[in-house]
Amino acid sequence: MPDFDRHSLLDLPPYPAAGYARLADRIAALIGTGNDVVFVQAEAVVALEAAATSLGRPGLRALNIVTSPYGELFGGWLKRAGAEVIELRAEPGLPVTVEAVAQALAGADGIDLVALVHAESASGILNPLPEIAELAREKGALLLVDAVASAGGHELDVDALGIDIAVIGPQKGLGGPAGISALSVSPRAWQAIDRTDTPRHSVLSLVDIKRNWLDAGRGVLSGMPSALEFHALEAALDRVEAEGIAAAIARHLRAQRAARAGLQALGARLWVSDENEASRLVTTILLPEGLDAHRLAQHGAAVAVGLSAGVGVVASRLLRLDHTGPRASRDTVLAGIRAVARVLREAGVAVSETAAEAAVDALWTS
Ligand SMILES: *Cc1c(COP(=O)(O)O)cnc(C)c1O
Repeated sequence: MPDFDRHSLLDLPPYPAAGYARLADRIAALIGTGNDVVFVQAEAVVALEAAATSLGRPGLRALNIVTSPYGELFGGWLKRAGAEVIELRAEPGLPVTVEAVAQALAGADGIDLVALVHAESASGILNPLPEIAELAREKGALLLVDAVASAGGHELDVDALGIDIAVIGPQKGLGGPAGISALSVSPRAWQAIDRTDTPRHSVLSLVDIKRNWLDAGRGVLSGMPSALEFHALEAALDRVEAEGIAAAIARHLRAQRAARAGLQALGARLWVSDENEASRLVTTILLPEGLDAHRLAQHGAAVAVGLSAGVGVVASRLLRLDHTGPRASRDTVLAGIRAVARVLREAGVAVSETAAEAAVDALWTS
C-alpha cells in the first residue's frame, strides 16, 4: 500500500452546489458534445443499468452488440424493461465486425436502438465505432455507447459520431474516481426516455435526474452527494485539462504501441493482432496452451504491477497489462513487461527481456 494521508480524505468541505454544472460542462467539452451531461452518483455500471432501464420498454427494438460481459448485462437490463433485444455476439474476446453489424441491421426492421461498448478493458479490443455509428444513423436508430473505458484514452467525439447516449466513468482513461459516473443525453434520447410509463423515483431513473437537476436549473444534486467523489472528479478533470485531452489520448496511443512492441519482442503473442482493433487501455496476450492466466496473475510480480486475467469466455488464456490513465506511462509499461517476462520465464516459457526493453525505449523516445 503506498503511503498517503488517508485522514486528509475526512472532514472535506461540501462540494459547492454551483460546481456540478461546471463539472458537467467540462466533461461535455472533453467528449465533444453540446448534449446534456448528467451525473449518476454511483459507479459506471449503475449508469449503464439506468440508461437501459430508462430507455427499455415494450415495443422498443434494440440491436445489442456483445463483446464482453458489460454488453451482456446491458442486453439483460433492456429485456427486463420489456424491450425486444436482438443480440449480436462477436467472436469471444474480439471486436465485432462492421459487416456483421450491417448484416444484422439489414435483416431487422425498425431498430430503435443500437448499443455497444467502445473500447473493452475486459479483453483489450476496440470496436469500430465510427462505422457502426454511421450504420445506426442510416437506420435512424438511437446510438448508445459504453465509453467508460475509452473516455480519455481514445478519440471520442460524441456529436460528430452522433452518439445519443454516451456513458462515461472517470476511473479508467481519465484517471479519476470510480464512485461517480456521467451520461451525455441527446434531445432525441430524452424524447425516448421521458415517457409517462418510464420508471420514476428510482436511482435508475434518468427522468428523475432530468426533473430534479436539469429542469431545476442544474444546482444542488439529489440526496447527499459524495463530496469525496466530486472533489476527486474535479481534480481528475484539472489534471486531464492541464495535459490536454489530445495529449492524454496520444499518451495512451504511445503506451499501447510500446506495450505491443515490447510484449512481441519478449516473445509473447498479442491477442489482438491489428493495432487498430486493439484498445489503448490494456494490452492483452494470449498465453501458450497449458498456462492459466488466473494462476499467473496471482504471482507476486504480477500482483505488484496489476497484471490480470481477461474477463469473459477466453479469460483464462488472456493476461492483461493495464496502461490506463496515469498508468499510460513508460515506467508502467516497462514494469508490466518485466513482470510478464518473469511469470512466463518461471512458467517455463523462453523470453527475451532485453529485446522487449529496447523495443519499449525505441517507441517511447521516438
Ligand atoms: C470499467 C467498465 C465499466 C464499468 O465498471 P465499473 O467498475 O462498474 O465502474 C463499464 N463498461 C466498460 C467497458 C468498462 O471497462
